[in-house]
Amino acid sequence: MNKIIASLLAVTVLFLIASGAVFAETPVSSKKSDNSKMQDASQTLKDAKKVESSNKPASHQNTASKSVSLKEDKRYPLSTVTMSLKKVSKHVYYIQGQAGTALDNQGFISNASVIITPKGIIIVDALASPSLARLMLQKIRKISNQPIVKVISTHYHADHIYGLQIFKDMKVEIMAPAGTWKYLDSANSKTLLASRRKSLKPWINQYTRLVKPDTIISKETVIKLGGVELLVNYIGSAHSDGDLSVYVKTDKVLISGDLIFEGRVPYVGNTNTSHWLKSLKEMKTDGLLALIPGHGKALQKPTIAIQLNYDYLLLLRDKMKVAVEDFKSFNEAYKEVDWSRFKHLPAFKEANRGNAYRVYHSLEVESLK
Ligand SMILES: [Zn+2]
Repeated sequence: MNKIIASLLAVTVLFLIASGAVFAETPVSSKKSDNSKMQDASQTLKDAKKVESSNKPASHQNTASKSVSLKEDKRYPLSTVTMSLKKVSKHVYYIQGQAGTALDNQGFISNASVIITPKGIIIVDALASPSLARLMLQKIRKISNQPIVKVISTHYHADHIYGLQIFKDMKVEIMAPAGTWKYLDSANSKTLLASRRKSLKPWINQYTRLVKPDTIISKETVIKLGGVELLVNYIGSAHSDGDLSVYVKTDKVLISGDLIFEGRVPYVGNTNTSHWLKSLKEMKTDGLLALIPGHGKALQKPTIAIQLNYDYLLLLRDKMKVAVEDFKSFNEAYKEVDWSRFKHLPAFKEANRGNAYRVYHSLEVESLK
């Protein structure tokens, strides 16, 4: 009898270690989403996991061969943000970054999606620091021990890629859209990292590095894993030098990357606004169960958010275009625009003027071509 109890205890301890549950955790948000179909994943799968753990031999508990140690590591100070993995559909979960701009919340402002299949896990976007990516990994390990087989980057912008090195070091394949090399080769990517090492210290530090992709996506690509089919849609240069979206066909969930910002004014960098607008117009949402944007909450009815992003970009582009054509100075043009429809949105104050300036500048360059 004692032997049975001892082996049961051993199995439980192994499971706890494998699931990462024994390591220090920040509390999982208990705030329920409005969306009844999206629940806190760790809660939803708790019972299923218990069954799985008791049905399999102890050796199976260590299938996370590509896992890294989640113990304290001086390179990656433990993040103290509240992060939770929310269930969107049968296989898709997501982590929602908090509202704010680049330097807020330890950089935790962008979303990541996690597709869990019986044959492995695919992650879409790696969050804004290695510390955040490790915290995400802890959350994943609470509900699945499947190996991480791919990380798909929707685009190379600091708030989505500084976590990539955690997965690169686990030898996980990193996929990214064509255009990524333009970003990596630019002086801007290097100066931004240098400045974030100061402004986002200690989360971005001397150990944080830019990670190169293993596979470049330059056309529509189908990925099948464990009975789940993904359509990776190459968009081209819209929000960034190269963007892609991921459609989880099996679950009818679209992961849009930064083509969509929900609940805040978009960040418009060195952008092709014309192609961004076109991509929004072509975005198919019929029959979608949910859309997971690059920032903000997942949406069951994404039409309003898509329209708001579209209208904002159109206003920026139209007004700045007229100003450039009339040889109006940027300051004069900016003052004349009626921003009232977007003024109330979070991040307007921080982002709008810079957005308008970069669009004005890009249109000046366009007009010289
Ligand atoms: Zn972003």
